[in-house]
Amino acid sequence: MRKFRPFLAILALLLFACPGALAQPSLPLPAVSSISTIAFDARQQVLTLLSSERLVPKIQYLSDSRPGKIVLDLPNAVFPKVKQEIPGGTAIDKIRISQYQNNPPSVRMVFDLSRPLEISVRSRRLEAGFETRIEPVASEADSFPRTGKQELLDLRLNGQNLVLEGNVPVYPEVRLNKDRGEYVLTLYDFTTRLDGLQSRLQSPLIESAVVFKDAKGVQIRLKLKRNDIEIIPFSADQFCTIQFLVKASEQNLARFTDIQIDELDRQTTRVRLFADKAFDYQVYPLENPSRLVIDTMGTAMGQLALERKPRNSQTIRNIRFIPTQAAHQTDVRVVFDLLSDSAYQFDWKSGYLELVIQSRRRQPEPDLNPQKMRAFVVVDPGHGGKDPGALGKSKIREKEVTLAVSQYLTRYLENDRIQVVMTRQEDLEVLLQPRVDVANLRNADLFVSIHCNSMPPNNTHVRGIETYYTTPQSKQLADTLHKYLITELGAPDRRVRLRGLYVTRKASMPSVLLEIGFLSNPEEEALLSSPAYQRRVAKAIRDGIYDYLSRNQKLRPEL
Ligand SMILES: [Zn+2]
Repeated sequence: MRKFRPFLAILALLLFACPGALAQPSLPLPAVSSISTIAFDARQQVLTLLSSERLVPKIQYLSDSRPGKIVLDLPNAVFPKVKQEIPGGTAIDKIRISQYQNNPPSVRMVFDLSRPLEISVRSRRLEAGFETRIEPVASEADSFPRTGKQELLDLRLNGQNLVLEGNVPVYPEVRLNKDRGEYVLTLYDFTTRLDGLQSRLQSPLIESAVVFKDAKGVQIRLKLKRNDIEIIPFSADQFCTIQFLVKASEQNLARFTDIQIDELDRQTTRVRLFADKAFDYQVYPLENPSRLVIDTMGTAMGQLALERKPRNSQTIRNIRFIPTQAAHQTDVRVVFDLLSDSAYQFDWKSGYLELVIQSRRRQPEPDLNPQKMRAFVVVDPGHGGKDPGALGKSKIREKEVTLAVSQYLTRYLENDRIQVVMTRQEDLEVLLQPRVDVANLRNADLFVSIHCNSMPPNNTHVRGIETYYTTPQSKQLADTLHKYLITELGAPDRRVRLRGLYVTRKASMPSVLLEIGFLSNPEEEALLSSPAYQRRVAKAIRDGIYDYLSRNQKLRPEL
């Protein structure tokens, strides 16, 4: 479910900084791994972690303190608690675990040793997620791969990126040496045939790259030509690609302009976070209590308040914005405090980041066995996919309104034990004939198509409800649904109309097309884009359908 938007903003910055960079697309950011469980077996001295993604540890042995410490960093990992301390046993005195760094996130474990010890780290994939075992290396002789076995084979440029190639997977420790203004990449227990200044690595961003070897391993010291560059390693197989990200400067920061929160149904909330330009981000969950985090880069608060409490949300208690770079109040972390454990999806749309949060709280599910259902209705949400239908002045699209109303209607009908099939369940383009086929081939009792109306610009005052039908057998259905819509919504009555529309003409059962309001009218557009009004529309249609089915003895008795 994790997904990363390509580095468009960064690419644009690099392009600006160094023409020609666009030829080399950037890599995605590594996925953030959420650590869910930590268990320590004191007898075996084995620490086991469960996590959502593979953990890529960086290990440092600190022998200057006796009997020593081991520092194990897990970049791109998040830890559910702020801090945890685990009492050790024979060889490990205690283990301290903390969220060491926030953006990008990194978890640090410090092993205080009671006698010198080496550890090995092994991961394996489980059905859901990964298990990582950190355990003492059995004997001195059988210690984990050491000098001579792990070798840095090559260093080269790939576009703007620097690639490290090893004979084994390469996970460098990255450190910024502020005094010298250089980055130091350390590969513990590695050896290499490379040595000294690597002049072929000079680039528009790299001033110099020097390789050093010592007892600890191999160091690569990078001097960069600018001081506003962040570097992010990305390891895969035997390669580690170092990406250079030019930090957003004051004028190219993306500023948040708005946040919209919509309740889609009793357990689903949609959040849209708008900004004046694209930004990079990572999304990941945290537990105890349930939270969802968006770490954004190159962003600033803009006009938004630092806290937002959505009213009546089914999933979100509170939203907090935390600029993680204190100096300039940038790189904003957005934390959603959730009401319960939730699933989520997210996607970058043009102009905003959309997040859909769905609570995993159990809802009473109707038993949808068709045998037990009392009638069968096909609901047809108009338009979809690359056919948006009518467009409101504030950019609300007909296809979105018709789908939302149809989803509510389906839920209400199912609660009445009426079987529903929707001709589309998502934002898809569906041709007209297949919509009718769904109803005809499956002998539906009714076909109800839902649309929004529109008028040319000089007629924006027109508002109200129109109901269309084609065949004589559909007139009573049209009259009934129209009456319920007018009465329950208090909307202007623009009459039931006879017209040869495709779907109502081709459907072999009573069928109607409902124009539930005008997107060209600003007030009705505002109403139609509100989930509360969408539910009222759905409820009116449901009441009409129920009345019609009852009066025509089309409702099978409840079993
Ligand atoms: Zn339409």
